[in-house]
Amino acid sequence: MKAMVLNTPGTRLQAIERPDPEPGPGEILIKVAACGVCRTDLHLVDDELPDPKLPIIPGHEIVGTVLALGDTVGGFSPGDRVGVPWLGRTCGHCRYCNMGSENLCDEPGFTGYQIDGGYAERTVADARYAFPIHGDYSDAEAAPLLCAGLIGHRSLRMAGDAKAIGIYGFGAAAHIVAQVARFAGRNVFAFVRPGDDAARDFALQLGATWAGSSEEQPPDELDAAIIFAPVGGLVPAALSAVRKGGIVVCGGIHMSDIPSFPYNILWGERTIRSVANLTRKDAEEFLELAPRVPVRTSVKTYPLAEANAALDAVRAGHLTGAAVLIP
Ligand SMILES: [Zn+2]
Ligand SMILES: [Zn+2]
Repeated sequence: MKAMVLNTPGTRLQAIERPDPEPGPGEILIKVAACGVCRTDLHLVDDELPDPKLPIIPGHEIVGTVLALGDTVGGFSPGDRVGVPWLGRTCGHCRYCNMGSENLCDEPGFTGYQIDGGYAERTVADARYAFPIHGDYSDAEAAPLLCAGLIGHRSLRMAGDAKAIGIYGFGAAAHIVAQVARFAGRNVFAFVRPGDDAARDFALQLGATWAGSSEEQPPDELDAAIIFAPVGGLVPAALSAVRKGGIVVCGGIHMSDIPSFPYNILWGERTIRSVANLTRKDAEEFLELAPRVPVRTSVKTYPLAEANAALDAVRAGHLTGAAVLIP
């Protein structure tokens, strides 16, 4: 199979050919039809995440078709359409797994980080962490649901029952969250990079009540804010925009340092929290919800061999919506 592989963080992905992987016990072999490019992939390639398996095939927004089953696999048959997200395995016995917070597992394996992912023609996945894809989505349209959608969904839940919700960084996750938030009758306030008119217009098209620069104050006080941009300076900005008792959710895996800020913008029982990974329950819930909204994803496709160009586009912030690789 052809694959794009990261040998050394901080360098470009290399095109390689290697034998197709074989599904072990409990695993499924998947013919990859589409794989989304997540900002997390960029943090991995740019050497901002510790201890990846190397070499590693990135990619954790995988949509494909089941080709073969390993021993003891239940629930899937060859030919099924399947999605594989970031959470690739958990230990099943640590305190977090036992308390229903497997997203915080002490010994997890993440797809495209510790486990070879979807920047390839074939991949294998633990069947217990793979999910059927519902709805009339094309493979490319479905791919961003697997991380941008799932993490966005979890982030939105952590924002509580906020009616006025700010979203900082209007990329792949935000464009999905905005639709789910509107569906739930919430008002979305979108904050984009100063001067990024394309992102501002995109947010308004998706039903945002207001869209403006991250340096501006929104016209109304926010009940909560979600930060998807990996920019620590947005934390005090968001705290300044939320009301007393409001919540600021940091949705990314990596963020630049948060600058110091006056205590009075946290005072008033405001909360800052992060969202880490996902549980299988998140995946089941969101993949069932998405076609009911219905969430429509905006994607730009790239051939697998152009994975580096796709990563560059995400890095530059030039995309409205999500980049997706097509093997
Ligand atoms: Zn665990
Ligand atoms: Zn991701």
